[in-house]
Amino acid sequence: VTPAALAAFRAVLGPAGILTEPADVAPFLRDFRGLYTGRSPLVARPDTVEQVQSLMRLATEYRTAIVPQGGNTSYCGAATPDASGTQIVVSLSRLKRIRAVDAAGFAITVDAGCTLSAVQAAAAGALRLFPLTLGSQDSCQIGGNLSTNAGGTAVLRYGMMRDLVLGLEVVLPDGRRMDQLSGLRKDNTGYELKQLFIGAEGTLGVITGACLKLYAAPAEYATALCALSGLGAAVELLGRLRASFGELVSAFEYIPAAAYALVARHLPEFVPPFAAASPAYALVELGLPSAARALADDFAALLAAEIDAGRLADAALASSLGQRQAFWFLREHIPDAQRRAGASLKHDISLPVAALPTFVAEARQRLKLLAPCGELVAYGHVGDGNLHFNLSPAAAGDDAALLALEAPIKRLVHDLVAAHGGSISAEHGIGRLKVAELERYEDPVALELMRRIKGALDPLGIMNPGKVLRGGDS
Ligand SMILES: Cc1cc2nc3c(=O)[nH]c(=O)nc-3n(C[C@H](O)[C@H](O)[C@H](O)COP(=O)(O)OP(=O)(O)OC[C@H]3O[C@@H](n4cnc5c(N)ncnc54)[C@H](O)[C@@H]3O)c2cc1C
Repeated sequence: VTPAALAAFRAVLGPAGILTEPADVAPFLRDFRGLYTGRSPLVARPDTVEQVQSLMRLATEYRTAIVPQGGNTSYCGAATPDASGTQIVVSLSRLKRIRAVDAAGFAITVDAGCTLSAVQAAAAGALRLFPLTLGSQDSCQIGGNLSTNAGGTAVLRYGMMRDLVLGLEVVLPDGRRMDQLSGLRKDNTGYELKQLFIGAEGTLGVITGACLKLYAAPAEYATALCALSGLGAAVELLGRLRASFGELVSAFEYIPAAAYALVARHLPEFVPPFAAASPAYALVELGLPSAARALADDFAALLAAEIDAGRLADAALASSLGQRQAFWFLREHIPDAQRRAGASLKHDISLPVAALPTFVAEARQRLKLLAPCGELVAYGHVGDGNLHFNLSPAAAGDDAALLALEAPIKRLVHDLVAAHGGSISAEHGIGRLKVAELERYEDPVALELMRRIKGALDPLGIMNPGKVLRGGDS
């Protein structure tokens, strides 16, 4: 960034809109997982859409690469600049107005820099639900959620971020603003452009605003932790629950004994709800609208029948908010417990739900031979076919041996995922971490189309270079 460019950015953003002191810039340069630390001469912090437009006009004029950043909670290094020192970070965190809540139309229009929890709270204030639910919701932002097409624990019922959007406002690399914020539920006028920017990880434009769908807030949740024999039993239980309760099943999270044991070992706050250990657990939740409250009894009856039939070992129903929170504590603290257990190798994969048990059995067998130093901790959003297929050290002191096998383990897991018709990135995206993996596994025609779209929308290649597609592709 030349002194002339720096002066121009400063003039457009004002003193509050630009950070250049190394200590101020530092937190924006390192990703959440600590995999990457980049360099950048400045962090731009626009607080109006017009400022974003002026900034992008300058970025085009000075050929300056920009890295849009929301809450910086990406799991794949998508929001971190590279080490060249030539990319500038554009933080959207000052763009955080709730623009309008339309309770009657079940819609909310927000700035991209609103945190997810601020949007959830604004919806709740109007007795509505914005259903996206992530462990990072207090810091991640709507623009980041959109740009990663975030998933989380309510996808089974409400879909991913892509499904929750009515309209977008996007600033293009040349500074023009695309306004598709009308919020219409029906609009078949040409190509569906907003979907291009959703999941694009900041490589096509800067999202500045969004009109999002709201839902009726459940009057009550029926939540149970079920003890069962393994993944096969979990998939079958999910099928029976969905057949009986349809869309009311809002979460189905799989927790193998290995994950349960990690939380029990590393988080003393966790009180195990069952006396006996089980090979696996499923956290099941129904969101019940007021007119369907009585279905909580039917849910309890179904679980009791499952136990009588020998298909479930046990089930604990939450009878209070505190118990519901305790069950979710278990699920939400698995990543934390894994971190405390030492090194971990993570794979964010998805497969057809029915293929999950065979896939995991096959992968486990092969991993036993390749990496006896690793313990498989494969948990997560089984209702969506999505597993966080992670490995922790099998015993204290196995960390180095496990990390040394990172590359062959990744190849084994991803090759097997591909062979079973799955995806190597279910919800975390590509970022910097999986660029080569995308090249390896993506359909070549799809990959070529992605490169052409990138070239058409960002001809100078200034939008988040090196993420999703290899640099120089545009
Ligand atoms: C504890 C924890 C739990 C998590 N759980 C889940 C989960 O269950 N499901 C899930 O899907 N993810 C999960 N994540 C990953 C992460 O939180 C999500 O990917 C989230 O959507 C990222 O939002 P962010 O604002 O932090 O984006 P950032 O990390 O800041 O950025 C992510 C990407 O979006 C781009 N971007 C950000 N804002 C904009 C914008 N306004 N315009 C254009 N591009 C932009 C960035 O350039 C980058 O490519 C979790 C992360 C943590 C730390």
